Amino acid sequence: MANDDVIIKIENVTKRYGKVAAVDNVSLEIKRGEFFALLGPSGCGKTTLLRMIAGFEVPTEGKIFIDGVDVSNVPPNKRPINTVFQSYAVFPHMSVFDNVAYGLQFDNVPKADQYQRVMAALADVKLDHLADRKPDQMSGGQRQRVALARALVKRPKVLLLDEPLSALDAKLREAMRFELTALQEKVGVTFVMVTHDQDEALAMADRCAVMERGRLMQTANPSSLYEFPSNRFVADFIGSVNLFAGKLVVDEPSHAQFYSEELGGKVFFDHGVSGAANENMWVGIRPEKIEMIKHVKKGPTPAMEDCPPDCNVFKGVIKQISYLGSESVYEVMLPNERIMRVTRPNLSRWDQEDFTWDDEVWLCFHGDSPVLLQN
Ligand code: ADP
Ligand code: MG
Repeated sequence: MANDDVIIKIENVTKRYGKVAAVDNVSLEIKRGEFFALLGPSGCGKTTLLRMIAGFEVPTEGKIFIDGVDVSNVPPNKRPINTVFQSYAVFPHMSVFDNVAYGLQFDNVPKADQYQRVMAALADVKLDHLADRKPDQMSGGQRQRVALARALVKRPKVLLLDEPLSALDAKLREAMRFELTALQEKVGVTFVMVTHDQDEALAMADRCAVMERGRLMQTANPSSLYEFPSNRFVADFIGSVNLFAGKLVVDEPSHAQFYSEELGGKVFFDHGVSGAANENMWVGIRPEKIEMIKHVKKGPTPAMEDCPPDCNVFKGVIKQISYLGSESVYEVMLPNERIMRVTRPNLSRWDQEDFTWDDEVWLCFHGDSPVLLQN
């Protein structure tokens, strides 16, 4: 039975070009009305997957359902879907109005209705005052909105967007993030966006699928991807993370311990992790979850008891400091010469303990901060 909340169902889809699997056995459900992002590094198969949803490519194996219908034999123009491509092609010599109306001419929409629908679509993208303008007299951001209006005027159930913001400069790209999310909320159409930019995906999407080398690594909402990545690739691709190889040595329902030779000690978890105890795994610790404590008070040797109770504690020496404005990044060398990265916000100056090169510090993090990661 078709689940009413699922608009796109991708079932064991593989796409091979010769021997290369551009998309490798991907299964995925996208919900009606959601802003969904396909995220991953360049070449991981995002566009190929999007093109199969649109119908421009045929899966080598597997099936795609749209609104409960197997679309294997449905051509692109018969799918309830529209696509906004990376290089948003608009006709430069036609007015904005005609560009948007163009898509309706082949749908036998009566002229009066056409006018209503084009103007409504232009209002959605805040271009109704520029209906007579030609795209070659417009900015990149405005041309992008023309392309969006032209796709939305067809009233698709799903709008596919391939790197929609990549042609815009950095400032405009950030502004357009908010505009696109607001637009999606307003029109309520399911958006599926391809991007290689993790900030963009996290900021805009309700849920993201992270891909690597054709495979799906994890599907979750942005905060879960960041806080609970399930494998090393996702932890490293989304944000910054300290990674250490090792294995679980205690695996209880209420707590766990991970031993890492690389780290030179054990990491305690204040919760169960349900890992496979013998497998080689990784522990990930986000730089902002580590507290740095300096110990001038207690003589030449830092005192461990200054750290809060129930903390993981490691000794280190500050080797590098990068000032990034709102925060600074500290590279702290552990006794075994491995580096742990720590970030601290640069708050008001009189509140802050100052850290400098060669300071001896304790690094503390609570048992809820580390994440256990599959290889
Ligand atoms: P992404 O959009 O994530 O950057 P693509 O889906 O464009 O990645 O490509 C995934 C992989 O498939 C790449 O290795 C790419 O070279 C290959 N590929 C994509 N399209 C074709 C094609 N038409 N013929 C051969 N190889 C292709
Ligand atoms: Mg691509």
